[in-house]
Amino acid sequence: MPNDENQKLSPMLNIEQFYIEQYLLDEVERRPDLIEVRWDCKVTKVERSTKEVLLGLSTPKGDYTAVTDWLVACDGGRSLVREALGLELKGASYEGRYVIVDIELESDLPTERLAWFDPPSNPGSSILMHRQPDNIWRIDYQLNKDEDADEAIKPENVIPRVQSHLDMIGQKGKWSPIWITIYKAHALTLDRYEHGRVLFAGDAGHLVPIFGVRGANSGIDDADNLAWKLALTVKGVASDKILKSYSDERVFAAQENLNYGTKSTEFMAPPSFAFELMREAVLSLAVKHPAVRSLINPRQTASITYTRSALNCQGDNSASFRSGPSIGGVLTECPITVVNGSCQLPGYLTDLMKPQFTVFCFTEKGELPRELNSLLSECRRLEIPFGLVAISRVKPLAAEGNVAWDHSGKLFAMYDARPGTCYFVRPDGHVQSRWRETSGVVVRRELEFILAAGTAD
Ligand SMILES: Cc1cc2nc3c(=O)[nH]c(=O)nc-3n(C[C@H](O)[C@H](O)[C@H](O)COP(=O)(O)OP(=O)(O)OC[C@H]3O[C@@H](n4cnc5c(N)ncnc54)[C@H](O)[C@@H]3O)c2cc1C
Repeated sequence: MPNDENQKLSPMLNIEQFYIEQYLLDEVERRPDLIEVRWDCKVTKVERSTKEVLLGLSTPKGDYTAVTDWLVACDGGRSLVREALGLELKGASYEGRYVIVDIELESDLPTERLAWFDPPSNPGSSILMHRQPDNIWRIDYQLNKDEDADEAIKPENVIPRVQSHLDMIGQKGKWSPIWITIYKAHALTLDRYEHGRVLFAGDAGHLVPIFGVRGANSGIDDADNLAWKLALTVKGVASDKILKSYSDERVFAAQENLNYGTKSTEFMAPPSFAFELMREAVLSLAVKHPAVRSLINPRQTASITYTRSALNCQGDNSASFRSGPSIGGVLTECPITVVNGSCQLPGYLTDLMKPQFTVFCFTEKGELPRELNSLLSECRRLEIPFGLVAISRVKPLAAEGNVAWDHSGKLFAMYDARPGTCYFVRPDGHVQSRWRETSGVVVRRELEFILAAGTAD
């Protein structure tokens, strides 16, 4: 997996989705003032008007209706809300079918993802294997075209195939199957995720092939993009037009994710002779020629740069920067020292991001421009989530507020910064604007621009 020393997180974090769901639920339960979970409650009907959405709900104790100002439909790939609105996912579905088997196995194999193409244990198809927490290993193998799917997932057919694979790679430990299912890759999305007061997120809006590992990841990115926009709309701080930018940005992201997922799928299960030939060529040449290796898709997720977002401001002509995240991109990670009063702790740049608009000001000694400090007080008064971070080039003696010291000098270089340079970042971590020099007036104008959803009103 490609990696670089500046990253806080390793390039691949492999964790079962039920852990993530539990962490999310734990967080939800910490905020009963904001969120109520209604278990065993099924949406059976959706009707919308320009002002509200009416839901028919069915529970074991009886049915009822609820009216809501906004509905975020994240009811998965078979979304009832999508169906109720008469919307259809568009794109491609692939023929290749994969059996997915999670097994429990004590093994000292390293933590990595491995792929076998045309292996003796499964001639003509491919096998993937990777470690998950708790000694669980995921094995995916492709079915041949003539195999019957129902038969293929019967334990009596799965167990010998897994055994033959484990024999092939010399794994002699005891193992047992935990979960068996079958999977077919889809590359589908809605044209828009904003339909008046109904907003689609996650699999309800798009289905990406698992081989790009971007399904749940991109659903989380949807939520990250939508939450602050919806909150600002509900509070009346931003124009509801900002929700259109949610749809535009995330449909764009889905298309990018589909491109990556499709590329991985075509590598795993070549749909035609030409793709097969390409894969053969890449795999055989990659042994001796490192330049070819990048064509083997690393199956990694990555953030998407919203190059065409209506919310992007231009700052100082961005082209004048020789490095640093471009407008629409996310912050490039870098180790820094977090300075809090006389206390200094090792950290990373993204540790300083909070769910708010943030201006990162590159400074000589951690001093923030006074004008920006007054904008901070004004935003507090108007309930606009806004913060400032000063990046100090030299070691600051003591600091008040959010100050980071670029102890290695890397950050200034990575961001092509000098004292006076500022990066303006949205609550979801995407860069909104960057300037060589800026003023409170300019930052306020850009803030107004985004709250008006990139329009002049
Ligand atoms: C085998 C496999 C491997 C995968 N591997 C990866 C991976 O490595 N990385 C990755 O990022 N993604 C992966 N994915 C994709 C990932 O699982 C999905 O993208 C993700 O679960 C989508 O989350 P979601 O919340 O949008 O939908 P879901 O997880 O489907 O959740 C939808 C929820 O809505 C509820 N619901 C549905 N209808 C109703 C209704 N009418 N009323 C009330 N509630 C309703 C459901 O009960 C469910 O709780 C994988 C998927 C599969 C199948």
